[in-house]
Amino acid sequence: MSEDLFRTFKKRRLTEVFWQKRTIHSEDKPIYSYQQIVSDDLWLKCPACQGIIFKASFEKANQVCPLCQKHYRLTSAERIELVVDEGSFVETDADLRSKNPLEFAGYDEKQQDIRESTGLSDAIITGKGTIGGYPAFIGVMDARYLMGSMGSVVGEKLCRLFENAGREHLPVITFAVSGGARMQEGMLSLMQMARTAAAVASFKAAGGFYLSVMTDPTTGGVTASFASLGDIILAEPDTLIGFAGRRVIEGTIAEQLPDGFQKAEFLKKHGFLDQIVSRANMKRTLAGWLAFLASPKALHSGGAGTAMPPLSQNSLKASERLERIHEKNRPVIDDYLGLVFDDAMEIHGDRRYADDPAMYAGAALLDGCGVFVLGHRKGRNITENTRVHFGMPHPEGYRKANRIMKLADRLGRPLVTFVDTPGAYCGVGAEERGQGEAIAACLSDLATLETPVFVIVTGEGGSGGALAIGVGNRIAMLENALYSVISPRGFASLLWKDPAREAEAADCLKITAEDLTAFGICDDVLPEPEDPNDAEWAGRMSAVIRTYLTNMLSAYDGRSGAAACEERARKLDRIAIFRESGGQNNG
Ligand SMILES: [Zn+2]
Repeated sequence: MSEDLFRTFKKRRLTEVFWQKRTIHSEDKPIYSYQQIVSDDLWLKCPACQGIIFKASFEKANQVCPLCQKHYRLTSAERIELVVDEGSFVETDADLRSKNPLEFAGYDEKQQDIRESTGLSDAIITGKGTIGGYPAFIGVMDARYLMGSMGSVVGEKLCRLFENAGREHLPVITFAVSGGARMQEGMLSLMQMARTAAAVASFKAAGGFYLSVMTDPTTGGVTASFASLGDIILAEPDTLIGFAGRRVIEGTIAEQLPDGFQKAEFLKKHGFLDQIVSRANMKRTLAGWLAFLASPKALHSGGAGTAMPPLSQNSLKASERLERIHEKNRPVIDDYLGLVFDDAMEIHGDRRYADDPAMYAGAALLDGCGVFVLGHRKGRNITENTRVHFGMPHPEGYRKANRIMKLADRLGRPLVTFVDTPGAYCGVGAEERGQGEAIAACLSDLATLETPVFVIVTGEGGSGGALAIGVGNRIAMLENALYSVISPRGFASLLWKDPAREAEAADCLKITAEDLTAFGICDDVLPEPEDPNDAEWAGRMSAVIRTYLTNMLSAYDGRSGAAACEERARKLDRIAIFRESGGQNNG
């Protein structure tokens, strides 16, 4: 409501005056109120925080309150000006006009009025432009046109947008702002949900990349169709996003709805948004994604790769290495990300239930080559450890990983994974939501991805929870890392009913890099600094990992995705040791 009030102010350009309400108190109760004129063209009152703000700074921030950061609505023209490179936008299908299929009284006249007052032809503008120099097809909705509702024209323009982008092999970016279906066009409006969803599906099936930005509000049929189908979905802060309206839900279930219900932050927590991006960072973020997509898929080697530093003579027992990987200062994935990659963009959510902080997912540039990254996330202190469940993912963590595997496959991007977990999270909720199924789905997809996968075991790799992101074309282990069927502690608990015998378990399980090389599971061992207290540990390890990965990306240059898939299958085929009754050993 307050926002509507604000729009009215905006529309009138604040006329000549601006009123601030003041209440005069006498004793303990207000006796009357009056309105005081505040300088008309210099100041605004933010309905969200009630703060008085300088109009120029509000407009400079592209209609974001400098006090409370409330993002007010932009018109489609303002949005295009904000994110698209100046002078690059070329509109398409500007001449489409809706008819009045139901002969709904007043529909034609209403549209005529809006067209005249806004200059819009319908609730979306589509076209092609560049963002940060990278070309994309772009669709921007406008709430001023019948609350951004989707009728035949919006549906048709979106379908053509995805077709055009598919033809030119360019990405699509849409900005949604919508109340949903356009009631005045009846069933024809509802069917635009199915049409736009189908257009996105065939665009994606042909290898296209679609980024959807939800702005306030994105609701009803637009949420339940194209806007929710982005490979990556962003939203501005505090954006209202939902299918059914809040009052409808409250009326139906007669319950108080939780704080922040249907807001962007709520949706992100529940796994449906990848990032919440402020208006000030939107263009940079979009350009980052387009740069990632435009980057090469492999590195041209042009000769031998960079030599790795030699391995030290590692005579540590597994139990001593276990101590090394439990050292407080041992680097974790958050240390590596910024040092190994040039630019890592985190991706959130499983699109099903939640975002699991125990599983990192992202897209990053490695020496200019765009790769997807997955990894178990451990914290650096007890607060972080608790937040990320000590690196033990829930099913939603594996489903997020699985989503990124499929995306890497579709876009033909290499996948890099960092393994460091005692195992998958163990609990009632994890079982209720199918922990086993979530891990199995990852293993199944790792078998069929037509893109190379490079695995680095950086700490402890325990159980199916590690394996879910641990099957690759090349599996490297840091020289003190361990990779085991279950954590040594878990092994001691299960077999000997004594978790204190952890060290003994580690020493008998054959879980070091040398053991796993002998089994044909580990391909490469990466040297670690000899001194576990080396202050530059993260930097030194990152340099080794970066060198290793760039060598791998060069080595896989020119190989087809199918060949990468076959290589993993052949590698797995060899990993079993058994004897057949004829007395032959296989390995
Ligand atoms: Zn404010």
